[in-house]
Amino acid sequence: MAYLRPVTIASALAARAELPDALVCGGGTAVQPAMNAGLLRPADVLDLGGLRDGAAIDACGDRVRLGPVVRVAAAARAHALGAGVLDGMLRGFATPAVRERATLTGNLFQAPADLAVVLTALDGSLIAASAHSRRERVLPVTTADALEPDELAIGLDLAVPAAFAYERLAVREVAAPTLAAVAAALLADGPRAAVTGYRTSTDAAGTVILCPGAVPHLADPAGEDGFAAAVVAAAAPPAPYARRSVAALARRCHRRIHLGGAHA
Ligand SMILES: Cc1cc2nc3c(=O)[nH]c(=O)nc-3n(C[C@H](O)[C@H](O)[C@H](O)COP(=O)(O)OP(=O)(O)OC[C@H]3O[C@@H](n4cnc5c(N)ncnc54)[C@H](O)[C@@H]3O)c2cc1C
Repeated sequence: MAYLRPVTIASALAARAELPDALVCGGGTAVQPAMNAGLLRPADVLDLGGLRDGAAIDACGDRVRLGPVVRVAAAARAHALGAGVLDGMLRGFATPAVRERATLTGNLFQAPADLAVVLTALDGSLIAASAHSRRERVLPVTTADALEPDELAIGLDLAVPAAFAYERLAVREVAAPTLAAVAAALLADGPRAAVTGYRTSTDAAGTVILCPGAVPHLADPAGEDGFAAAVVAAAAPPAPYARRSVAALARRCHRRIHLGGAHA
């Protein structure tokens, strides 16, 4: 097995061209447990964890660029993104130790991808590159079609919101899977929202609805009720109780971004 740990993005892309089937490892919080359990047995591993130029967070006007190995905890602390933007969602995300290692980019390539709804509401794009090309994929993207075989995700481009809210439904506040989530952001060109689907008990076998492909963009229609109706239409919850729950999440988000001040 080849184990490659490049130290620059350019050398990582060259390695990807050489070993397109290698398992890519970002923070490793999803792939390493899977490898330890024997669920993943890659021929080769391309470990991005040592990229010296991969953890930058650069402000660029009203947007921010994050490198491919920016950790979830580091993004939450970053002033460039607007302090506190990720705080609300992080209460229910993994554990503090996992958040210090897990990357935002890596989250988009595994399921459930709880950050997909946040990054989509922030008008996010995934930056995909090969040794010879570079392109931006507007979120949401599905894992299956996000990248060509010779590409890596080399970062994210996000809007810095004037206000942001995230609401999720789970059986407990921490250490419980998300059933449904709504994220809403006030951006320079108006409000935006993103919503996940609703996971039901019939998904017990592990079928996951919460994937980036299930997260559409929403413009803000008329007021709280219109917003909630649009979110429900986009999420298509499977039952009346689920529709009511998603509508309640959407109303709370709408209220918080319009009345609660920045990053309420
Ligand atoms: C205890 C625990 C709790 C967790 N809780 C949550 C949770 O609440 N919500 C949640 O969403 N997730 C959770 N996770 C899963 C995981 O930690 C996160 O999804 C994390 O963000 C994944 O990021 P990573 O950098 O560690 O990904 P990795 O494990 O390194 O990779 C994940 C996937 O992304 C691909 N990948 C990574 N970087 C790139 C790149 N630059 N280009 C192309 N492909 C890439 C990998 O090949 C792999 O398919 C949890 C994990 C653990 C162990």
